[in-house]
Amino acid sequence: MKDKLIRATAKDGQVRIIAAITTELVNEATKTHECMPTASAALGRMLTGGVLMGAMLKNDTDSLTTQIDGGGEAKGVTVTAHHDGSVKGYIGNPKVDLPLNEKGKLEVGGAIGKNGYLKVIKDMGLKEPYVGQVPIYTGEVGDDIAYYFTVSEQTPSAVALGVLVDTDLSIKAAGGFIIQMMPGASEFLADIITYRLEEVPSVTAMIEKGMTIEEILEFIFEDMDLKIYDALVPAYKCDCSRERVERVLISIGKDDLQEIYDEGKTEEILCHFCNKTYDFKPEDIKKILEAIN
Ligand SMILES: [Zn+2]
Repeated sequence: MKDKLIRATAKDGQVRIIAAITTELVNEATKTHECMPTASAALGRMLTGGVLMGAMLKNDTDSLTTQIDGGGEAKGVTVTAHHDGSVKGYIGNPKVDLPLNEKGKLEVGGAIGKNGYLKVIKDMGLKEPYVGQVPIYTGEVGDDIAYYFTVSEQTPSAVALGVLVDTDLSIKAAGGFIIQMMPGASEFLADIITYRLEEVPSVTAMIEKGMTIEEILEFIFEDMDLKIYDALVPAYKCDCSRERVERVLISIGKDDLQEIYDEGKTEEILCHFCNKTYDFKPEDIKKILEAIN
């Protein structure tokens, strides 16, 4: 199935749903970062959660960054997403690979660790970005995002995120959904949905079977007056550029830049999101120094 993100409601708007298939974008990200399976699952779940949360932003220029680091071998995952479905991310240690957990699933919680926070930073073009954080709940990512919504944004939410890694390390299936109860929604309805989610197969099992994202929601919200609104194509995209990297160089300050220049070596700056390197030769550094003097 092609990557696709949809927004929907159920039960006359009492339930808000955002759901996506992200197999292709997770595949691209895990290839770029040469991830081992546990790292692929951790990064893939964070990318899927990020792209779903990013789609909740109001304006095109808004961005949302999520970070999770619980002191585990994964050494943290950072993801930035935009309203239009573009997303980028990286994992501190792409080679982390742990034995499967007792449920036979990739051990994402163990790789992330539980000693730390899930941070959500929303840049909405205001002077200060919004920053919310919650202690890591399980480190499985989906649970942590659900906990964040419930505690930090007072919106009871169910979050399912999954990544299936094939034996050749490519991504067999990835996707997920965020289901939120709107203010005034009946508690009975929340219970029904909770039971239903326990009964249905995992989201990746349904994607692997070839179900579309619409079919998956129709299956879960059968008889709940599901309305699907719009669709967009999420994609892995890095927006780095030489100008942006130059701004980072400027931000380290004149004295440090002068020091780099005096060393006379070419400064190589790596973009963590896409692994592209930007070379700054001594004469480039000199130009920057002249410009800020
Ligand atoms: Zn980049």
